[in-house]
Amino acid sequence: MTQIQGGCLCGAIRYTSAAQPLMTAVCHCKHCQRQSGTAFSVLVALPAGTLELQGEAPATYQDRGESGLAVMRHFCGKCGSPISSQVEAMPGMDWLKAGTLDDASWLQPQVAIWCDHAQPWVPLGETMAQFPKNPPPQA
Ligand SMILES: [Zn+2]
Ligand SMILES: [Zn+2]
Repeated sequence: MTQIQGGCLCGAIRYTSAAQPLMTAVCHCKHCQRQSGTAFSVLVALPAGTLELQGEAPATYQDRGESGLAVMRHFCGKCGSPISSQVEAMPGMDWLKAGTLDDASWLQPQVAIWCDHAQPWVPLGETMAQFPKNPPPQA
């Protein structure tokens, strides 16, 4: 049983979810690199609406994916921690940034996406399914 619980760096935003993840992934896209300030995002996809936020309302940056569709990137307006994203091209899911989990010891990402943009030193992990861009809808 997965316990989804976490929050931003400063603690202004906390969250829980009782849902089971739909997917766990690593995203190497350039936008995740910029937003996180590091080489990739680690993501837990939850059924939309199952992420319960407490504390301050997150700030939102409306980004745009390569498809031209919106990517809503939610983050803490006080400390800047990215919390979650909603990707219009992949509806029905909230993409939680796994670095904000209190305990991520259970997490084993299943897929690596946007591998075309991975920084060259990053091992892509033999245990993960790899996709050059977004995964196909059934992945
Ligand atoms: Zn914060
Ligand atoms: Zn990304």
